[in-house]
Formats: sequence, C-alpha cells, structure tokens
Amino acid sequence: MFLELRGVTKRFGGLTAVDHIDLDIEDGEFICFLGPSGCGKTTLLRLIAGLESLDEGAIRLRGSDLGQLPARKRNFGVVFQSYSLFPSMTVARNVAYGLVCRKWPRARIEPRVAALLDLVHLRGDAGKYPHELSGGMQQRVALARALAPEPEVLLLDEPLSALDAKVRESLRGEIRDLQKRLGITTVMVTHDQDEAMEMADRILVMNRGRIEQVGLAQDLYWRPTTRFVGEFIGRLNVLERERWQALLPELGGDPGRLFGIRPEHVRLVGAGEPSNGPVGEGTVRKVAFLGNMTRLILEAGPGVVEIEVHGPLRGAEVGERLRFTLPGEHLSPMAADPR
Ligand code: ATP
Repeated sequence: MFLELRGVTKRFGGLTAVDHIDLDIEDGEFICFLGPSGCGKTTLLRLIAGLESLDEGAIRLRGSDLGQLPARKRNFGVVFQSYSLFPSMTVARNVAYGLVCRKWPRARIEPRVAALLDLVHLRGDAGKYPHELSGGMQQRVALARALAPEPEVLLLDEPLSALDAKVRESLRGEIRDLQKRLGITTVMVTHDQDEAMEMADRILVMNRGRIEQVGLAQDLYWRPTTRFVGEFIGRLNVLERERWQALLPELGGDPGRLFGIRPEHVRLVGAGEPSNGPVGEGTVRKVAFLGNMTRLILEAGPGVVEIEVHGPLRGAEVGERLRFTLPGEHLSPMAADPR
C-alpha cells in the first residue's frame, strides 16, 4: 500500500481528536476528509504531514514508518486555507523557496519554477507580489510552491474555503485536472460535501474523531451506512421504527435499525393510481419551488416526510392531503449511531 494509517490516534488533554483511524490510500488517489467543524479532519491531515505527533498508531509510506520523521523530511507538499505566501517575495521567488531550501542548483530551479507557473497558468505573473494577486491566483501560487519540490503526497487543508463561490468552483476543476495530470496522491480536508463529491476519488466521512464511512461519492449518497452520513451528504428522510411502524409495519423489528430514503425517491400517488410500495398519506405543510424541482414537506402520521418532485407538479397546496409511496428498492438500512 502507498500510504497506510493504522490505529492513528491523537489526544489533546482529555479530548480524543482522532480516534483509531485505519485507512489505506493508493498511489495517485485523491481522497477527501469530510466532516463538520471539530470532527478531527484537520488534525488527521496534520498527523500525516508530521505537523502533529501521534499518540498511538502508525503512518507508513510505501511500508516505511513515518513516525519519527519530522515534517520537513517527509517531502509532502502542503497547502493551507490561508495562502501563507511570503509577502515580500515575488511569485517566482515564492515558488522557488522550497527548492532553494533543499539546495537545488540554480540551473534546475529556474526551469522548474517556469514549468510550475505554466501549470497553474501564472507565467505572466512571475514578477508580481502576492498583494497584487486575487485570492484565487494566490492559492494557485501556493499550489505551485507546494508542488515544486516534486512531493510524494499533496496535502490540502481547506484550500478553497477562503475564496468566493465562483473562483472556488473553477479552482475545484483546475486542482482536480492538475492532480490527475501529475498523478500525485492527494489528501484534501473540506467541510463542503459538493467539493468533496466533485473532486475526490474517495471520501472519508469523519465524526467525532472516527470514520463513519469511506467510499465513492455514489456509495455515500445511495448507500449511507449510518444516519450521520445520510444526513450529512444530501437530504434524507429518516424512518425510525416508532415513528413509522404504523405506516410501514413490515420494516419493524430491530429498534436499533433505521431506514433512510432520499426525498427524490418518495413518489406521489394520485387517487386510484397503483403504487409499487406501501402507501402513506400526509398533509402538505410547505411547498417550496426551487426552479429545477419543488420540495414538499408533508406531515404524515407522527413525523414529516420530505418529497422532491422534478418536473411539473399540479395542485399541491398547503393543507391538502396527498398520498405517497416509499419504493422498497430505495430504502437504505442504516445504523442509528453506534456511539
Ligand atoms: P475545523 O473544520 O473547524 O477545523 P476539524 O474537523 O478540522 O474542524 P480539528 O481542527 O482537527 O477539527 O479539531 C478536532 C478537535 O481537536 C476540536 O475539538 C479542536 O478544538 C481540538 N483541537 C485541535 N487542535 C488542538 C490543539 N492544538 N489543542 C487543543 N485542542 C485542539
């Protein structure tokens, strides 16, 4: 395995910020650590970078233990949220910085800097200072600086979150293209699910220092294994046994078990229309027209159900009674919360 994490644990006083994480990352893979604020994702990235020391566990690169290796000896490129460029150095000198520190010969530095600036589309800006650049351009310089010493792994800590929405979207694609072109193993921390889904090969969802689920974006969305993942990624109707026994008695059984169904999978059933699943009835509490779809909130029995209807929707008024069905093939069994 390229990069291996085994039982990786970090405590700050009484708080276990990263709690026995096991993970294998393949050579050339782009993996995102996704989770809410405080879940431990940045600490996990900093442990890989060597910027924090492990309390327990091991991190291995191509089988060799990184435990005692300080950050500067790991040859990992790191990009932080704040661009952290040197303000008194030009773009070119910022990019060259790591190469000078590593005592690359001058004859190698100049072409390397030029190649990197080409890669991030900033060749014409080599002589500018950071304050003369937009946020997006500064982050591209930071990326070029991190990539210049040919790192084995690229570590990105919320690199896009300080940028405005438009720049963020275009840089997502740019970073992903660059990563694929270079084939560099990349780990990115983000709290933005869209960013993770668009950029990553695999996503690791963290909650309270532990892994909730690791997988492709499709796995996390269509087959969330825990309630946390289902609710963190997209919107979800959660069917708890007590609330839904009346509606779907066949789901009964283990009270620790839940079922989730995405709002777009709940189908409205017209009067007299056949359905392919159990039918419930509810009172419309809210109708929100969102352009490409309409979101309905129905009060149904002891709970609410959210329905997203794509395409035309006639006659859904607040207070109206509507029938709906929950197609069995779209019900995901989930663990409530193991902790
Ligand atoms: P955010 O997105 O807000 O940065 P995160 O998921 O990256 O959140 P971490 O920054 O890894 O979370 O923090 C995990 C937990 O560890 C938090 O409760 C945080 O307060 C705590 N923590 C992180 N660094 C330290 C530190 N140096 N000293 C004490 N506690 C820390």
